[in-house]
Amino acid sequence: MKSSRLTVAPATAQKLARLGLVEPMDLVLHLPLRYEDETRITAIADAPYQHSVQIEGEVRQCEVRRQPRKQLRVLLADASGAVWLRFLHFYPSQEKLCAVGQRLRAVGEVRRGFQGDEMVHPKIHAVGDNDVLPEAMTPVYPTVQGLNQSTLRRLIGQALALEDLSDTLPAALRAALALPDFADAVHTLHHPPPDCAQQALALRRLPAWQRLKFDELLAQQLAMRILYRQRRHGGSPRLCGDGRLRQALLAQLPFALTAAQQRVLAEIDADLASPHPMRRLLQGDVGSGKTVVAALAALTAIEAGYQAALMAPTELLAEQHYLKLRDWLTPLGLTVAWTSGSQKKSERQAARAAMASGAAQLTVGTHALFQDDIDFARLGLAIVDEQHRFGVGQRLALSGKGGEPHQLMMSATPIPRTLAMSYYADLDVSVIDELPPGRTPIVTKLINAARRGEVMGAVAHAVAQGRQAYWVCPLIEESETLQLQTAVDTHVELQAALPGVAVGLVHGRMKSADKAAVMAAFSRNEVQLLVATTVIEVGVDVPNASLMVIEHAERMGLAQLHQLRGRVGRGAAESRCVLLFEAPLSDLAKARLKVMYDTTDGFEIARQDLQLRGPGEFLGARQSGAPMLRFADPEADQPLLDVARNWATRLLAEHPDAVDAHLRRWLSGKEQFLRA
Ligand code: ADP
Ligand code: MG
Repeated sequence: MKSSRLTVAPATAQKLARLGLVEPMDLVLHLPLRYEDETRITAIADAPYQHSVQIEGEVRQCEVRRQPRKQLRVLLADASGAVWLRFLHFYPSQEKLCAVGQRLRAVGEVRRGFQGDEMVHPKIHAVGDNDVLPEAMTPVYPTVQGLNQSTLRRLIGQALALEDLSDTLPAALRAALALPDFADAVHTLHHPPPDCAQQALALRRLPAWQRLKFDELLAQQLAMRILYRQRRHGGSPRLCGDGRLRQALLAQLPFALTAAQQRVLAEIDADLASPHPMRRLLQGDVGSGKTVVAALAALTAIEAGYQAALMAPTELLAEQHYLKLRDWLTPLGLTVAWTSGSQKKSERQAARAAMASGAAQLTVGTHALFQDDIDFARLGLAIVDEQHRFGVGQRLALSGKGGEPHQLMMSATPIPRTLAMSYYADLDVSVIDELPPGRTPIVTKLINAARRGEVMGAVAHAVAQGRQAYWVCPLIEESETLQLQTAVDTHVELQAALPGVAVGLVHGRMKSADKAAVMAAFSRNEVQLLVATTVIEVGVDVPNASLMVIEHAERMGLAQLHQLRGRVGRGAAESRCVLLFEAPLSDLAKARLKVMYDTTDGFEIARQDLQLRGPGEFLGARQSGAPMLRFADPEADQPLLDVARNWATRLLAEHPDAVDAHLRRWLSGKEQFLRA
């Protein structure tokens, strides 16, 4: 704790830090999980079973039993009746506290025991003569081992008393909000009055909850808006091309751009031509053709005399991009460099030299490309594929390299509108909302793994017809080694089961040259069945592959399944995706597989996924580095999010001091986010 007003022992501070509590304001915002009602005494005879109650009485008996195991048994009686208090672990001090004749208060749940009604491990304390009942409910906080409730309560109580809780919102606007003041809201949530409905508290429906959610959403909107504004003030090169290279590429492609591709390109062009850094998210479902858009954007940067870089989340995907872009750009007289973590030092040095000298107009690599110190002669545009894998942190880190390059982020995981509005509000968004013509929809089948043999038959049949297939091995989260082993075993098994079919294997641990060789053989149809781990999840593009088999589909996330399924359905042939599952399925697993069966629309899948999983997981939120939402849920609290957005606009325009105060409170210790 940095505050001079609140002193905390170092050992305690460490435990608090494990709860994410670093600043005193963090303590203020550390809200209870639940409450215990110690504001009233229930007569023992009236105590309902299985509800936490507080009783008060006199100790009539106190005994330590050794059978069946050591325990302390205390008979507590009031005018209405008696109940046994039973402790399986106890200290001598507790035994002393429970001396016969002592008046005690006990909080716990009464239940039926062998020797009559009992409370197991109640919270007890001795009652003095002028002991008054508390007026508010007792908070129970989320905690970690070694940090007890009473310490937390004391520290939070001190923080509440010492911190400045004055309202950050101007009075004029507060009236319109019709929500309690900040100070009232936090006091209520830490110490709600007993008449406050537990239900509403638990469901976070109380006005006090609404106020905190609103403040949090407002802080997020303000932060995003400020980031956006900072960017509009930043300087970037104006990238205006003469269209020479673009036309050459378009002339060489076997297809024409879809209307949607043309539209998003125009949006990107307008950004590139402006003197401020572009931060544009390009969304388009799997197979919608984002790569060619990226290539054309890169060509504009190159035409303008700058370099471009493309980064991808996995080495396999980066490599696929590299091969495709090299094929596209080399005929135009351009040099494409490739850099990866696993390449030879000499190769990497050569690639870096080409980037630093400007000899390479385009560089492709994994995101490690941007994490090391890398010099570009004139980087004008950075493209990040599959952005959903990258957090805001990385999004910002990029801006430091080579001045302020324009950034294009591409994602096939569509972000539902509410999430885009909250988490990605600092970005501009373009959407490719149509697939290239001539695609046949993918048919999805859910098949019990017991029928795996039939599925192998289907693979043989597809191959006999000149088609190709993928066989994806299960995700084994506990162990990467186990996952590899499974892939290797499956490869051997399928080779044996499918004589005459060339079966390839690709996984994350292979040397990148070997991986590339297998992928190239698959592209040329020298390998007809590709056994793979989930490394092929994103980006891999072999249009002749029309069958996708995914084992243990129930273990995978919907976004992942959608990505995997998107590897087929890229050509004119009818494509199928077989989701093999291991019975019995949990209800959630059933619901998720049903979503995959019902639709191939990425937006719909994302929406359902969000409903099934909640926004935190959906975004891989913890790593994202953005000020995370602890209280609000942009989906459930959408009306509040809309209000917060409007308020953000007004505050920025009319009350800059309030903006400062609000962000200081809500981003305490995280302001570097705004300066980054
Ligand atoms: P994604 O958006 O999933 O990254 P890709 O860029 O890999 O999709 O494109 C999928 C496939 O569609 C590729 O084979 C690509 O060459 C092809 N493609 C892209 N645009 C068009 C188009 N306008 N018409 C036909 N095929 C296209
Ligand atoms: Mg792609």
